[in-house]
Amino acid sequence: MESKRIFLSSPTMNGREMGYIQEAFDTNWIAPLGKNVDGFECELGEYLKSHQGEQRQGEEYHLAALSSGTAAIHLALKLAGVQEGDKVFCSSLTFAASANPICYEKAVPVFIESERDSWNMSPDSLREAFHRYPECRIVICANLYGTPAKLSEIREICKENHAILIEDAAESLGAVYKGRQTGTYGDFGVFSFNGNKMITTSGGGMLLCHTKEAASKARFYATQAREPARHYEHKEIGYNYRMSNIVAGIGRGQLWSLDEYIERKQRIYETYEEAFRDIPGISLNPVPEGAKANHWLSCILLKPGCGVTPNQIMDALEAENIESRPIWKPMHLQPVFSDCAYVHTGDPVSEEIFRNGVCLPSDIKNTEEDMERIIRIIKGLFF
Ligand SMILES: *Cc1c(COP(=O)(O)O)cnc(C)c1O
Repeated sequence: MESKRIFLSSPTMNGREMGYIQEAFDTNWIAPLGKNVDGFECELGEYLKSHQGEQRQGEEYHLAALSSGTAAIHLALKLAGVQEGDKVFCSSLTFAASANPICYEKAVPVFIESERDSWNMSPDSLREAFHRYPECRIVICANLYGTPAKLSEIREICKENHAILIEDAAESLGAVYKGRQTGTYGDFGVFSFNGNKMITTSGGGMLLCHTKEAASKARFYATQAREPARHYEHKEIGYNYRMSNIVAGIGRGQLWSLDEYIERKQRIYETYEEAFRDIPGISLNPVPEGAKANHWLSCILLKPGCGVTPNQIMDALEAENIESRPIWKPMHLQPVFSDCAYVHTGDPVSEEIFRNGVCLPSDIKNTEEDMERIIRIIKGLFF
């Protein structure tokens, strides 16, 4: 077995992070507030602004740095006014963190099927869901593996139905759909900086709001809902969800590299695409027209009957000390959500992707030799 493990997606530090952390130590701001927290919020907002098309330069982004992406989804639901018993539409093909906060609030998830073009929420199934449950007022739509959903269509359907869109961009920081950054389509946008995401702070998240008031309210909930009084006054239930000043320092450093990381992830995707072009049994996770993915993870889909299964690929890679993993198991197939409704208009697309897909190593530290090895192992199973 090769000694050096090849990872799916591991943290890549660029050296700038320590400067921000050192400054936090030097000034003794070892707390869930401080210059790095404010700086990270501003600088991520600036990044998004400077990467938008010209016509969106006037938009305002107000960000709240939080302890995780899951916390950001939870607070987005609170700000959207979710109440006990409310139905919330949510992508079925996603990580459980997209859906869990719905249950924290005793609301009821309704899972929406994917489309083949993007693997994300199908606009047709979403329309059908509103037809069936016209009372629903909140939608959580994930951009899986860094590929944008058809966000302008999804947003339009939400508007027509007076629903608030929470965009789970935990995996898609820096990805673009029709000239607009993912995370800025929704009424609320959610980013994650967990250990294996596009950029990492070890753990952390960000909630994007479009008004100053909403972001202030998120920070209020994130710091135990303390009222502005000298003593500790509370009128609402709060949370301990604020990002630490040390963690935010890592984020400020990482932001410098985001564009470079996206380019490197894109090259990984193109390398796989090129390598598997001559194997009809393999296709890559598709990028819909008008989208530029960040290619957080490159995934393959095997044609049923092509003679090779996802487990064979994962076993063959693991035998060579190479990490890979299955596609997210759809939420409507999870035991914990077995009582929840599931809306689909056509084929069970997400289940097919789950059964026939594999996430391939997409670590930006992979060398050309690493990529050649991975590709040789997979191709070896076909010939
Ligand atoms: C990682 C992830 C989250 C949660 O982010 P954390 O920072 O790990 O809490 C939410 N949704 C999706 C789709 C994710 O991949």
